[in-house]
Amino acid sequence: MSELIYRIPLPLESVCWGRLITKREILRCSEIEWDVLKHKLTRIEAIQDKRCNRCSNHQMDFFGKIPKQPAFGFHTVRYYCLNCLNMGRMTEGDWLYYLESPSQFLLKINEILTWEGTLSPEQYRASQEIIKSLPDFNRPHMIYAVTGAGKTEMIFPVIATILKFGGRVVVASPRIDVCLELAPRLQEAFRQIPVQLLYGGQEEPYRYTPITVSTTHQLLRFKEAFDLVIVDEVDAFPYAGDDTLHYAVVRSKKPHGKLIYLTATPDDHLMKQVEHENLTLTTLPARYHRHPLPEPIFEWIGDWREAINKGNRTSRLFKLMERFFNIQGVKLFFVPSINMAEKLFRWIEHAAPDLAKQMTVVHSKDPQRKEKVQALRQGDYQALISTTILERGVTFTNCHVCIIGAEDRLYTLAALVQMSGRVGRKWDYPTGQLIYAHGGITRAMLSARSQILEMNRQAKERGLIDDTTSDR
Ligand SMILES: [Zn+2]
Repeated sequence: MSELIYRIPLPLESVCWGRLITKREILRCSEIEWDVLKHKLTRIEAIQDKRCNRCSNHQMDFFGKIPKQPAFGFHTVRYYCLNCLNMGRMTEGDWLYYLESPSQFLLKINEILTWEGTLSPEQYRASQEIIKSLPDFNRPHMIYAVTGAGKTEMIFPVIATILKFGGRVVVASPRIDVCLELAPRLQEAFRQIPVQLLYGGQEEPYRYTPITVSTTHQLLRFKEAFDLVIVDEVDAFPYAGDDTLHYAVVRSKKPHGKLIYLTATPDDHLMKQVEHENLTLTTLPARYHRHPLPEPIFEWIGDWREAINKGNRTSRLFKLMERFFNIQGVKLFFVPSINMAEKLFRWIEHAAPDLAKQMTVVHSKDPQRKEKVQALRQGDYQALISTTILERGVTFTNCHVCIIGAEDRLYTLAALVQMSGRVGRKWDYPTGQLIYAHGGITRAMLSARSQILEMNRQAKERGLIDDTTSDR
């Protein structure tokens, strides 16, 4: 794909459009002549009046100190920002550079959206509601869609609308895994348009593109760049409750741009915003395939930690796992900690080597996690023991979920609903088994179940589910 898609050629300085970056970052991604460029850029002090202009940190606890050259015999210090240190150190005396983005940059291709699928009536309704909300640039719009509703497809027409008018779009998520899944899907849907993926530690040099997929963190390098900012999984860690990332998202949007949130599990804060009419809302209670969300079965397994630690084969946990393993399809066993996940796998290896051959274990510190997930998809494994890293953004065909230790306090309402949402997402396998295996019922478990039941109830009431009896 080349820059020939634009009506006028992209100038070299386009790498600076709508960005707030250092000289080193500019020169790394372009062969531009600094002496020519620098006169066009706005120069901003990186740390000004004890505030970081990249991440807006102004809490003194989040500044480090380094000694400054002595002046008039006094030893003084220079402050540097700890809050955004992982993106390169910003120290007092450093500069950030900004170049305003052109308001429109027209494409010369006729067929912008090359996706050949069709939206369900509900997906269509949601995408039309987003498009209608675009001129209301002061208020974000939220799509609250159950897991498996097909959120990604419904944003395609919205993105196409923005691109048609020469606008620029970013789809951001707090989770790298979600970004890695989104980028190829967007590239496939907009085959002629360059799509760029941004995340920490990435090698490819930055360039101007009409569509960008980015972690919310990387948006700290943008300012008034995008006509449309879509934040997927807006309730996910670390975005929820992180002021810096919220600031980055809002600043990356052009003044007349639009902010869209996508979520399957909005938190109280977001729902309050809706109540106060600071946020407009579209709810999709049903999946695109018109089957209800699988409802969890609570199964008591007593002290499951002890069962794992002692390798007790007569325990309820072991019997449940054996039984669950016999279901046809992909089985996901979620376990609350890396340590317990590994211990559980070693126990199965020891106690049931035949089962262990067909399963593997993944967690956030596993360098092989991408390969293992791929192997599970290809059918090399039947089952996977996982921590919550796989709670979002992954889809397996004919998938069943067993949450071991569902009462663990790490399992929030959102985490439980997301893990549950891995079951029955495909047309040909719209149902599946879902078990919350626990040593005691928590409020989060009850809330997750009632949220799932409530969405199914709303979907039935609106005629969005074909089968009115439960699918299991
Ligand atoms: Zn900072």
